[in-house]
Amino acid sequence: MSDTLFSKIINREIPADILYEDEQALAFADINPQAPVHFLVIPKKPIATINDIEEEDREVVGHLYLVAAKLAKQMGFAEEGYRAVMNCNPYGGQTVYHLHLHVLAGKPMGWPPY
Ligand code: C5P
Repeated sequence: MSDTLFSKIINREIPADILYEDEQALAFADINPQAPVHFLVIPKKPIATINDIEEEDREVVGHLYLVAAKLAKQMGFAEEGYRAVMNCNPYGGQTVYHLHLHVLAGKPMGWPPY
């Protein structure tokens, strides 16, 4: 897949408020937050959408959730709760085609999400 903004964030070609990094994943504050806390957890591997996840990506995709939960605990909102969601393709509201887990917290979330 072609490079997206998120590859540029991984490569430090554009700035971001980076919260966490390891060999497989990066977490950074969303530039346009939709909740008091809103960050994204992304794989370093450039997977475009949920539809493009392959068998070999099981571990890295699971890892994104482990990073989300780790940060939720560290940042102190794990117990009160949060939303972790991935948007897929236009009807899902996806705008950046590099897989990302939105983590939203700091207020009660509504449902349904539209
Ligand atoms: O799920 P979707 O693709 O719409 O989410 C992309 C997210 O990436 C948006 O919430 C947007 O604010 C965020 N973004 C960002 N930094 C950028 C570009 C987009 O945090 N440089």
